[in-house]
Amino acid sequence: MLTLDFHPTGRHFLQIPGPSPVPDRILRAMSLPTIDHRGPEFALLGKRVLAGMQRIFQTKHPVVIYPASGTGAWEAALANTLSPGDAVLMYETGHFASLWNRMATRLGLQTEFLGLPGVEGWRRGVQADLIEKRLREDSQHRIKAVCVVHNETSTGATSDIKAVRKAIDAAKHPALLMVDSISGLASAEYRHDEWGVDVCVSGSQKGLMLPPGISFNALSPKALEVSKNAKLPKSFWAWDEMVEMNKTGYFPYTPNTNLLYGLAEACDMLLEEQQGGLDTVFARHQRWAEGVRAAVRAWGLEIQCADPSVYSPVLTGVVMPDGVDADKVRQLIYERFDLSLGTGLGKVKGRMFRIGHLGDCNDLTLVAALGGCEMGLKLSGVKLAGSGVQAAMDHFASHASAVPLKKAA
Ligand SMILES: *Cc1c(COP(=O)(O)O)cnc(C)c1O
Repeated sequence: MLTLDFHPTGRHFLQIPGPSPVPDRILRAMSLPTIDHRGPEFALLGKRVLAGMQRIFQTKHPVVIYPASGTGAWEAALANTLSPGDAVLMYETGHFASLWNRMATRLGLQTEFLGLPGVEGWRRGVQADLIEKRLREDSQHRIKAVCVVHNETSTGATSDIKAVRKAIDAAKHPALLMVDSISGLASAEYRHDEWGVDVCVSGSQKGLMLPPGISFNALSPKALEVSKNAKLPKSFWAWDEMVEMNKTGYFPYTPNTNLLYGLAEACDMLLEEQQGGLDTVFARHQRWAEGVRAAVRAWGLEIQCADPSVYSPVLTGVVMPDGVDADKVRQLIYERFDLSLGTGLGKVKGRMFRIGHLGDCNDLTLVAALGGCEMGLKLSGVKLAGSGVQAAMDHFASHASAVPLKKAA
């Protein structure tokens, strides 16, 4: 018999940058009985999660929820706004940007993949000036959309989306701005309306702390308008039916009821005012990331992201010295210490591993995770300059969190 009891005692340390650990509170919410998705109770749940997600995206406009992984919501963003043969400008920040670019090509779009040469672009955020320059050259306005990844999960760089908006506006170009914030939303600051994003794509299993299985499109009035004339084939992904039915709290096809219970709980947790709401969530992730980077520096290892102004609050990529296979180190850490780390993807496979510090973490889970890394690095023969665990402890001890965890009655 297949046993799923892989980890007999304690908690498995799921320190990959998504799926992130699911809090007990959310697991309990999801254990409620599945209800009739056409019945009267469902509308309350539907309205609650749709309103909650508008607050998380920081938008007044519609949010669409799909029973699909993030990849599905990528396709929805393209299929609802574009027509066969349309030119789209995508920007290469790493593996996820590359996958979205490949998808756009497979859907019959004319993609142009802009970026810095080699792996240089995989160490930095989006260079908005390159986008502005390219758009200025496109005097015929052939380019219909600019697609960028907000938090590039393969490298640990969080791009400046406001700068991309400014670049498009400076070029006086009408292209839509489409953003993948699958791993950014609810961890890294994201403001849909204020930043002038037309379509934002997100997913459940990263900052929202849910299991995989639902994903999102946040829209702008311009995106909705453009979608009326977009000709790429779509049916399952079509916004129009979704947005119409969602007005009453219902969905055109069976939604992921139990994941929506979890989503309602996640929204409550993230938006809770006495905990400071989203701003505290963003600050908490920044603080964790600083602690983890202090550890990597103390080890004397290199951080994959080479531009401190775009260090990700969600994950940190740790580059191995020459000759060390990062996946072997990861495997040893997994087998010896029951700790999962993110693998190097695409161009950086074997060169680095990724430590996720998002969602249901705290100072002590991160100190423990760094302890697993430190032991594993030493056992793998990697020469360390000093103790990363000590550096992280020093960082956390000397930087109190913005909201006290416990207040005296
Ligand atoms: C996780 C992730 C995806 C892929 O989402 P799936 O849920 O695996 O389909 C895409 N882009 C980014 C930035 C991600 O982090």
